[in-house]
Amino acid sequence: MTARTTTGQGKLYDSIVDTIGNTPCIRVNRLAPDNVRLYVKAEFFNPAASVKDRLAISIIEEAEKRGDLKPGQTVVEATSGNTGIGLAMVCAAKGYPLVVTMAESFSVERRKLMRFLGAKVVLTPKELKGFGMVQKAVELAQEHGWFLAHQFETKDNALVHENTTGREILADFKGRRLDYFVSGYGTGGTIAGVGRVLRKERPETKIVLSEPANAQLVGSGIPQERGPDGAPSVGHSAFEPHPIQGWTPDFIPLVLQEAIDKHYYDALVPVPGPTAIEWSRKLAAEEGILTGISGGATFAVAHQIAEQAEDGTTILAMLPDTGERYLSTPLFENIEEVMTEDERALMTSTPGYQMG
Ligand code: PMP
Repeated sequence: MTARTTTGQGKLYDSIVDTIGNTPCIRVNRLAPDNVRLYVKAEFFNPAASVKDRLAISIIEEAEKRGDLKPGQTVVEATSGNTGIGLAMVCAAKGYPLVVTMAESFSVERRKLMRFLGAKVVLTPKELKGFGMVQKAVELAQEHGWFLAHQFETKDNALVHENTTGREILADFKGRRLDYFVSGYGTGGTIAGVGRVLRKERPETKIVLSEPANAQLVGSGIPQERGPDGAPSVGHSAFEPHPIQGWTPDFIPLVLQEAIDKHYYDALVPVPGPTAIEWSRKLAAEEGILTGISGGATFAVAHQIAEQAEDGTTILAMLPDTGERYLSTPLFENIEEVMTEDERALMTSTPGYQMG
């Protein structure tokens, strides 16, 4: 093996926002069957460590171009966390105040990160679910004349995934097989944008969409009722609370509807929450890949496909964010703060630095 050396990026960056995107596709070695190639697209390489950094810069810059967002105007959005963290990073870099509405059920570190990045966080009751936090953001925008980001409806969402995420996948798999692409959905921006690109440029690639086993909104076949702007007018009847944060809100977003209507996926595979958590833990402990619960969920589906696939099959799974965002959630539930029995045995196996 040659020595590991690096050469730099070959350029200087003008702003943190210029480091968004161009995330690496990384081979999974120990957890993958030998006869297939299993890759993950690691969105935690984005500056605020999630796929939503792409959406955040797109919403802000497209609104600036249209003149919808005025210099210094407050931005408001309903978000389960990653969009808020991405928007907080972009708004801090560009000098816009940000107010985020968020159901109190989402992890505490998400709120703290947004506040650390200079945003204000308004919590909404967990009984009102995703629908409640969206309503609150709409009210605040109307009352105060703020710019509402509309992540679940805006065209700037799928657009950025078409122009960046999708293009990156095309470039990285140029001249190579790509048999399966696996993704879940929150807003549906990833699947709609990447779907547009793969359907056109790589029609042989099978697109697999996943959703929580206990909240199969797409799988239910029940259409979403919407208001005139495409936003949901009621919650979806197939929704149940699930632990895969960032996935499947309690309605079918307008952005996702394109992927459903235009058949951007070949299979719809449900994943139980505990399976998602188990695979996120395995990716960390057995591959050194630190991703959240939704990353564990997409990887669980990709692994299931890999186990039944013919030799040489190439699979790519989206890993939307970092595992570090889940320290207070069930993902880290069995990770001790104090020394375990094994660790205590190691401590007492040599005479130095004994603790009581
Ligand atoms: N996983 C996590 C952790 C997320 O925050 C999101 C975005 N809400 C997704 C997956 C899904 O991405 P998209 O909104 O593009 O469907």
